Amino acid sequence: MAEKYDAIIIGAGVIGAPIAYELAKQGYKTLTVDKLSDAGLGSTAASCAIIRAHYSTEDGVAFAYEGFHYWMDWENYLGRVKDEKGLAKFMQTGSILLKSQGHDWRKVQKHYDAVGVQYEEWDLDQIKAAAPVYELDEFWPVRRPEDPSFFDDPAKKLEGALFCPEGGYMSDPALSAHNIMRAAEVHGAKFMFNAEVVDVRAADGRVAGITLKDGTQIDAPVVVNVAGPHSYKINQMAPGVWEGCNIKTKALRHEVMHCPSPEDYDYYNKGYHTSDGDIGCYYRPELGNQFLIGSEDPDCDPQEWVDPDEFYAGQGGTGRDNQLTEAQWKAQCYRLARRVPSLPIPNQPRGVVDLYDCSDDWIPIYDKSDLPGFYMAIGSSGNQYKNAPVAGAMMAQLIDACEKGLDHDAQPLQFKMKYLKRSLDMGFFSRKREINTDSSFSVNG
Ligand SMILES: Cc1cc2nc3c(=O)[nH]c(=O)nc-3n(C[C@H](O)[C@H](O)[C@H](O)COP(=O)(O)OP(=O)(O)OC[C@H]3O[C@@H](n4cnc5c(N)ncnc54)[C@H](O)[C@@H]3O)c2cc1C
Repeated sequence: MAEKYDAIIIGAGVIGAPIAYELAKQGYKTLTVDKLSDAGLGSTAASCAIIRAHYSTEDGVAFAYEGFHYWMDWENYLGRVKDEKGLAKFMQTGSILLKSQGHDWRKVQKHYDAVGVQYEEWDLDQIKAAAPVYELDEFWPVRRPEDPSFFDDPAKKLEGALFCPEGGYMSDPALSAHNIMRAAEVHGAKFMFNAEVVDVRAADGRVAGITLKDGTQIDAPVVVNVAGPHSYKINQMAPGVWEGCNIKTKALRHEVMHCPSPEDYDYYNKGYHTSDGDIGCYYRPELGNQFLIGSEDPDCDPQEWVDPDEFYAGQGGTGRDNQLTEAQWKAQCYRLARRVPSLPIPNQPRGVVDLYDCSDDWIPIYDKSDLPGFYMAIGSSGNQYKNAPVAGAMMAQLIDACEKGLDHDAQPLQFKMKYLKRSLDMGFFSRKREINTDSSFSVNG
């Protein structure tokens, strides 16, 4: 006999888990299904988990800054739950946004002021005092090391930085999703692993439930797609959903490098998360006194759109194609070595490779769909880890309001933020929106 729930959530990543948590707190009987063996093992596990406030839109800044409060108050957010694996930890390094041509930092500053983000303006001496290994020359435009002008002498200095003291990163992204799962279970939420959804069924003009690979059918009047890089595949299973989206999603391969810090510099304990548009990289401290180096997707770098099933193939579907490419390893490390000339670059590439679930404009879709009862929290575009707990609260409000009759497409829900005491028009995240031309069209969102 088919089991019945009030809501099924597809995906137990860092965004799926808080949706289950918030719905369960509202009294929904939820089931979260994931084809992997535990919470947070999808793209969340590879996340750099950086918590920063700079985005290219005011709503984006407000949404991220609201998120800060959840991470800074992690134990209370979780309801002081016990997790046998321990709790993830917020590492409040502070966040440096270098003023460069690679970022529209003036726009960011305007949004910081409008939202009330705490920040300081730093001149070059202040940056140097905080991060003595940084050379503050301008290297713009971003180039590849194969480019003969890559090593040209810089002619100018950078202008300074916006420093956000509350920024940082979470110590273990997979564990953070696991923590939220444990918190949700206290409120009755159920989680099912090694369970792959192969169909989303509809009946009488609305969603009816899911079918798993082993043929099991589970029914619910609400189904939420939070499948990360597989989001477009789940949307294509649900009748009319993919076709009803003006903004689509697809999976982009992304490499993150680990490179040792200069020996005499304690980057792990004293370093800052830094967004460095001038060299097209972001970096933060990583265990073992290393720099973790991500790419801000500069125009000169190739983009590799992939089929997520092929990428994750192997080891029973849970493995990753974790091969760093030598050219990209060189690009990201050599770029950082311009900023940190004492950086020792080992011969052996080390790091992680995973997938972004990218939307057409690099802004997520948090929305209902054209199939009543079917919702989506997708298109996180490499920049929504930090927003996951807020997204959970917002999606739960949306689902409850729509199930009680709200016509969200005609009158978008005004999401009330708990900490910032401001509202966000959820039309901003609509699947029906036109491409948002204010976006950076990059991981910066
Ligand atoms: C390399 C990298 C670095 C990043 N760095 C940052 C950062 O520094 N800061 C930031 O804010 N964001 C960052 N992000 C983005 C952030 O990590 C993601 O937005 C977030 O983790 C997405 O969470 P999710 O729950 O939507 O997806 P996922 O964690 O991918 O979870 C989706 C789940 O759905 C499951 N699933 C898929 N298909 C099915 C199916 N058919 N049946 C059952 N289950 C299914 C998967 O197994 C998976 O567990 C980064 C992302 C990557 C890849």
